[in-house]
Amino acid sequence: MPVKEIIDLRSDTITLPTEEMLEAIRHAKLGDDVFREDPTVNKLEQMAAEKMGKEAALLVTSGTQANLIALMSNTKRGDLVILEAESHIYWYEVGGISMIAGLLPWPVKSSAGAPTPEDVKAAIRPSDIHFPEPALVCLENTHNRHGGTIIRPSQIKAISEVAHTHGLKLYLDGARIFNAAVALQVDVREFTRHVDNLMFSLSKGLCCPIGSVLVGTCEFIEKARKIRKILGGGMRQAGIIAAPGIVALETMIDRLAEDHRNARRLAEGISKIEGIQIDLSRVQTNIVCFDISGLGMTADMFIAKLKEKGILALTMGENKVRLVTHRGIEREHVDAAIAAIEDIAKNSRAK
Ligand SMILES: *Cc1c(COP(=O)(O)O)cnc(C)c1O
Repeated sequence: MPVKEIIDLRSDTITLPTEEMLEAIRHAKLGDDVFREDPTVNKLEQMAAEKMGKEAALLVTSGTQANLIALMSNTKRGDLVILEAESHIYWYEVGGISMIAGLLPWPVKSSAGAPTPEDVKAAIRPSDIHFPEPALVCLENTHNRHGGTIIRPSQIKAISEVAHTHGLKLYLDGARIFNAAVALQVDVREFTRHVDNLMFSLSKGLCCPIGSVLVGTCEFIEKARKIRKILGGGMRQAGIIAAPGIVALETMIDRLAEDHRNARRLAEGISKIEGIQIDLSRVQTNIVCFDISGLGMTADMFIAKLKEKGILALTMGENKVRLVTHRGIEREHVDAAIAAIEDIAKNSRAK
């Protein structure tokens, strides 16, 4: 029996390194990065800083570690951090913001990922014996739980003005910031110029096996380097991680447009299926979220049925399903996924 190809739409984190990346790893010049002697790491960090229009950069093990280091580098214990209520830091980072960084997260709701400047301002309470000191505002772009939505440069600018006026720093969880830049066809610096520091992921749509990069001022990165060491993230011949990162920055950014085209096609196909609700205006990058409550089953049941058809997806709550396009997902896979979903919907209606 021929083995049916699995179409894995769970996340862009499942992408494998390209042949060019594997070659780059094989030939990378290496040294001890704790002594700052790995030339490949140094090169990646320099490239990343330049690309983002900031002074310096630091390679770290994961996006979660990048966020934790940034929280700790931008604040002192006991401070208040304003973040969006659906943000990755608040939802998916095991509460490290409280447990390790010792901070009070202050969630602010939004409709598509960016709190309004007014809501951010309202969250910055005045100096008072009862209140912790507000120190930092965090944004996320693209916004994962809102469905890969883009926070526009003008929105970031407006929030930065509020934060900076009140003496707070602005940090960007830019795990997928290149998706935002490619989708709007603007230089990534349009997004980064208004924030004090940020991180981006190498290991998502950019297809590297490991790694994220923190970017900011020299002073911030020096602090971050020390905190990375505290957290056990000081690595030695980390050039084997940086080498594919360099390939990614040189060759993998523009192709994200392909993932966006496939996500659009997928979303439009799904939108025609009875019983499924999808907000097409939110499908702005490589993430497609939809509601299946009209099919009379839970999201868990739905993804189990999809799995039987060789398609892997994740749930985003009781009735919501998430599909993510990435390198390796072609148009024919998208069409197969639409057909499979159509089939599940048809069978549920027949009951
Ligand atoms: C994936 C993701 C992270 C965490 O990255 P890991 O490398 O998985 O730890 C942080 N923020 C956002 C927005 C993400 O999508």
